[in-house]
Amino acid sequence: MSTPPAASKVTPFAKPQYTAAQNSRTPGPVRVVGGTAGGGHATGTWVRPVTMPGSGVMASVFSTIHLGENGITVIDPGWTGRNKEGEYLRELDDFLRERGRRLEQITQVIVTHAHPDHVTAATCLLDATRARFIVGEQEWRTVEKSRTGDADDPYAPWPERFGTPAGVLDGSVEHMKNQRVPAFIPRRRPDVQLADGDLLADHGLDGDLGARAVVTPGHTPGHLCLVNEDAGIFLAADMILPEIHPGIGLGIGQLGGNPVIEYLESLDRIREFDDLLVIPGHGYVFSGLAARRRETAEHVLGRAWEVRRVLDWNPEISVWRLASQLTWSSGWEGLRESPMLVSGLRQTMMYRDLVLSRDSDGEDALTRWERIFGLDEGCRVPRAEH
Ligand SMILES: [Zn+2]
Repeated sequence: MSTPPAASKVTPFAKPQYTAAQNSRTPGPVRVVGGTAGGGHATGTWVRPVTMPGSGVMASVFSTIHLGENGITVIDPGWTGRNKEGEYLRELDDFLRERGRRLEQITQVIVTHAHPDHVTAATCLLDATRARFIVGEQEWRTVEKSRTGDADDPYAPWPERFGTPAGVLDGSVEHMKNQRVPAFIPRRRPDVQLADGDLLADHGLDGDLGARAVVTPGHTPGHLCLVNEDAGIFLAADMILPEIHPGIGLGIGQLGGNPVIEYLESLDRIREFDDLLVIPGHGYVFSGLAARRRETAEHVLGRAWEVRRVLDWNPEISVWRLASQLTWSSGWEGLRESPMLVSGLRQTMMYRDLVLSRDSDGEDALTRWERIFGLDEGCRVPRAEH
């Protein structure tokens, strides 16, 4: 995660959520009223922030709960600390009882992506209810890959690939060899796996809240969004966030693509939801997706231009030396000593490949993306990462 330029043009849906994000606090639950396409009617959908270790918008993660006629859907159960599962379930049950429902009435648990802040509480929630467990088919493939050790990762941190000095990546290579399914992933197999474009109703699911699956790779390889155009709601999870920009290429397994390119494609693709109310994974519900997509594209392309300037000067430079020439929020020396080093190097290599990529008609990649997002040369300023 990294810091964008200030003064975002999005409009927060509920002031208390916005204020809480500024003060690293967890706001109370908010009932959602859909965007313009929904005519602004109140829905049975609540955003229930769950406290997690983090600051700013990352002080909580949004669990979205739909109180349907025939059951209850929970999208991203959220975070729970070790041995805090009982507390989590009690608080969720209290939330539901205040609205005339009970924990046992939860029928669907949907997970947008395999990150601990979104998925950890799924295990206890599935154990405590008879809910079906629903995931994106593409994201679940990364879980299977971490199970079999069959990682298809062009950005795996091998020292020879990154040109790192001897010893620097020893720890991470060891870690890769011992890779297993992380403990925060439910042991249970999903009951339903959604593919891009699937209507939830076609799987016999309640699609009141998330009617249709929209797969948006980039943050993770199979990141899942849900949209209900009639209700005017786009559930974006970590595809796009207020205040900060989502990290890219953070899957627990990879599916072979370049996450930065995939992220830009996803960012362009969700333009069809520009008029809807956005429920992100953190921060605050907002409208103004068009503006936020643009700000996010500026951030990604600003970084790409920084990488490009180094490559113009030395096209053969190693990933390691390329990274040393870039702006990092804790400085290059700081990054070298930090646990974020591997992710920083991976990202550098993804950006390098974006810069070197060309369209089938030979058009320069960065100019093409600027055109797609309607950006001018003003975006070509360095942006610090990490
Ligand atoms: Zn995430």
